Amino acid sequence: DVIIRGESVVKEYQTGAQTVQALKGIDFSIQPSDFVAIVGPSGSGKSTLLNLLGLLDVPTRGTVRLRGTDVSTFSDGDRTTKRKHTIGFVFQSFYLIPTLTALENVEMPRMLDRTPKKTRERAKQLLRRVGLGDRLDHYPDELSGGQKQRVAIARSLINDPAILLADEPTGNLDRETGDDILELFDELRAEENVAVVTVTHDAYVAEEADRVVNLVDGEITDADEAESNGVVE
Ligand code: ADP
Ligand code: ADP
Repeated sequence: DVIIRGESVVKEYQTGAQTVQALKGIDFSIQPSDFVAIVGPSGSGKSTLLNLLGLLDVPTRGTVRLRGTDVSTFSDGDRTTKRKHTIGFVFQSFYLIPTLTALENVEMPRMLDRTPKKTRERAKQLLRRVGLGDRLDHYPDELSGGQKQRVAIARSLINDPAILLADEPTGNLDRETGDDILELFDELRAEENVAVVTVTHDAYVAEEADRVVNLVDGEITDADEAESNGVVE
């Protein structure tokens, strides 16, 4: 029951006459309840990998399969629909809409659906799930950083995604608040089977992960090797 699998994935960017190979033939797979940390220096291909996992982009060569289907065979519209129902995004800087309440922010991704009552119920349920049942009508300004990230996590779950992609989710939080968010991820993995994939510079977050994908110059280096090289620690 692999959700996403990449095989010999190459991603190239063309800038004028110059070709940059951002990923040089990597393999990866994400399964339900996984907690995977992607680490590596700036420019090593982390965002590129995240964009592929998030179905925001397709590989130049090699294959990325979503539940067995090559994503390169999807039309852009299909890929958008699959993304909506497969991937939840969480960012370092929350991206909440300041003029909407916590509840309305969580409902946002389903605003155009014709099931407002169902959406509202699910949004409330998710906010309770992340410990904000008493903050439904608060605006982002009225919430702490950790609470804002909880709202963003609730929002990312509104379409019941299989994978939560988190880009530096604890980057704007102090250690204790970040800890609470990692704990929440653990609960969501156990209870909702959601997989969490995070890009992080924080060795502490990487330590909490089941698996570390260590990217160096577009290639995955062996985690043990990386550790003995001091890259992870
Ligand atoms: P990271 O997230 O680890 O910093 P990126 O995936 O952003 O790494 O970038 C990997 C490599 O690909 C870098 O050399 C970067 O300059 C290049 N790159 C990323 N995006 C583009 C783009 N849109 N056009 C050209 N080159 C890009
Ligand atoms: P950083 O962690 O460097 O501050 P962001 O978290 O803002 O970067 O964004 C990380 C990646 O997610 C980027 O590649 C960006 O293009 C993409 N991204 C940003 N906002 C959205 C969004 N609302 N939906 C989908 N992808 C996004």
